[in-house]
Amino acid sequence: MTVFQGHEQVVFCEDKASGLRAIIAIHSTALGPALGGTRFYPYASEEEALADVLELSRGMTYKNAMAGLDHGGGKAVILGDPSRDKSEALLRAYGRFVQSLGGRYVTACDVGTYSPDMDYVARESRFVTGRTEAAGGAGDSSVLTAFGVFQGMRAAAERVWGEPTLRGRLVGIQGVGKVGRRLADLLAEDGARLVIWDVDAAATARVVAAHPMTTVAADAADLLAAELDVYAPCALGRALTDEVAATLEARIVCGGANNQLAHPGIEKVLAERGVLYAPDYVVNAGGVIQVADEIEGFSMERARARAAGIFDTTGRIFELAERDAVPPAVAADRLAERRMSEVGRLRSIWR
Ligand code: NAD
Repeated sequence: MTVFQGHEQVVFCEDKASGLRAIIAIHSTALGPALGGTRFYPYASEEEALADVLELSRGMTYKNAMAGLDHGGGKAVILGDPSRDKSEALLRAYGRFVQSLGGRYVTACDVGTYSPDMDYVARESRFVTGRTEAAGGAGDSSVLTAFGVFQGMRAAAERVWGEPTLRGRLVGIQGVGKVGRRLADLLAEDGARLVIWDVDAAATARVVAAHPMTTVAADAADLLAAELDVYAPCALGRALTDEVAATLEARIVCGGANNQLAHPGIEKVLAERGVLYAPDYVVNAGGVIQVADEIEGFSMERARARAAGIFDTTGRIFELAERDAVPPAVAADRLAERRMSEVGRLRSIWR
């Protein structure tokens, strides 16, 4: 069932001729214009798409707040199969709807959309980021997403093993697409051992070609059955089910996927079992940091420095969690909500 969680605005967009059917959800503009990507996905129903965009846009509010950005949270979904339905006309029609919101929502890439798509959207709207480097944009945001996840994982390693490195540890990556593959590169460079699983054999083959010592699991269960030190969910959401939380042997969970907890309460099970969960939206904020930087004229150096801060932020959340005797996911939500209330309130001062 669809649950509205204090969303400010939800817009349904349709352009029959191009086949566009999209929903834009603005959860909060307390810290600034809502920022979040556009997911292009073959949803089974409009209800499913609506539920997804509502949940994802709320997640962006917390992610952007925690990343220290002056942005609220929003997200959009385009209903359809990107490999079949995507066209210049559809993307530009979508861009006109984004523009019509006057900057309350700034869009970017997500699953199923890429930087060249944002170049098309940008021909109809000023409120777009994540464009190609050729068009003056920040390019593929998975570069700093993976970098940020790696920083979060280092912070978790320091917490658990006393040293901020994954050297010699066995890390299991589920999903080696744009983020997972780049995370594998960073981990290999750090001296970690890798076991990976992806439904797409071409994706695992790419990682093995780059890092021949990598083990490929036979399936998701086989990945989890390996004696993992760290589990890194980097595919789609809800990797942390009741069953996984109850049986996982890894000491750390830290990955790039959004919405990793299958439902609220899983974070408690993990904490009780001594598994340190680095909250998803805290560690995967590198991508939104990258595209937010583009809005003022992109500097990779500046964005990378900011994404490096995910190491400190994650460490701070672990400390707060211990101090308040709550799971890290709860500590992160509290910190994000505090920033929204303290900084969001300042707008009541006229200047
Ligand atoms: P992607 O589509 O490039 O990669 C996802 C990979 O997961 C693909 O290789 C796919 O085959 C694989 N996969 C799908 N279902 C699977 C399953 N059940 N088991 C194993 N593998 C499976 O997407 P991405 O950009 O790498 O994003 C990965 C995750 O990270 C998503 O949840 C996304 O929302 C999140 N994320 C991405 C970014 C970014 O900048 N790209 C930023 C923040 C969060």
